[in-house]
Amino acid sequence: MARRKKIYEGKAKILYEGPEPGTIVQYFKDDATAFNAEKKDVIDGKGVLNNRLSEYFMTGLNQIGVPTHFIRRLNMREQLVRNCEIVPLEIIVRNYAAGTMSKRLGIAEGTQLPRPIVEYCYKDDALGDPLVTEEHIAAFGWASQQDMDDILSLALRVNDFLSGMMLAVGIRLVDFKIEIGRVYDGDFQRLIVADEISPDSCRLWDIETGQKLDKDVFRRDLGNLTDAYSEVARRLGVLPQSNVPKPTLIN
Ligand code: C5P
Repeated sequence: MARRKKIYEGKAKILYEGPEPGTIVQYFKDDATAFNAEKKDVIDGKGVLNNRLSEYFMTGLNQIGVPTHFIRRLNMREQLVRNCEIVPLEIIVRNYAAGTMSKRLGIAEGTQLPRPIVEYCYKDDALGDPLVTEEHIAAFGWASQQDMDDILSLALRVNDFLSGMMLAVGIRLVDFKIEIGRVYDGDFQRLIVADEISPDSCRLWDIETGQKLDKDVFRRDLGNLTDAYSEVARRLGVLPQSNVPKPTLIN
């Protein structure tokens, strides 16, 4: 079989040309990076877990009418997604203060925010994805006012959906990042949720104990990252069958 064409390799994923026009194969690597790739490691099994978890979240979003790029999972590490033009913004939604917001504004991590706060960062690794305002976005033409209205609405719907889903399994959705893609149906342009939604791009804390179940485990050296992600997958019931302990047979 001919080798398929690699379109792009990022820090955690590789994109290959898909089998049909307008599709892409998204491959999840085991590589973990933090602080704009200053800290790096390979974490066995992370890609498999993120492939599963992103499938789970995106499928749920599709089902409630929030459009995403996800088409179907192909295997342990790959999923078929719709090709789209990525808007060069990282959209961050925060329910509780943490991370850069806590640092920037001096608010203790874990403080509940009066309402979800949406932030935008310009996607540029060389610049370290700087925080930008809607003024920058409009002035530099990264997205139109209509796009921004749609992006805000998508981000808040994703937030409500994920917050509820996590709450049901005893996890607090502290914050998360999504990316948005443009697709064209003829002359008509639509925005959809793209990239991935996984514990790499969310902060997830156990409601009872405050235990971190997300990439901060790696960023802050708090323990085993795959154990944390497996716990999220286990609670949501999305672990591959082979990882679920087999019931003991009693005669
Ligand atoms: O680092 P910061 O506190 O701004 O991150 C907010 C949220 O966005 C966290 O859940 C983090 O995992 C996510 N994020 C991301 N990719 C980035 C920056 C932040 O997934 N490049």
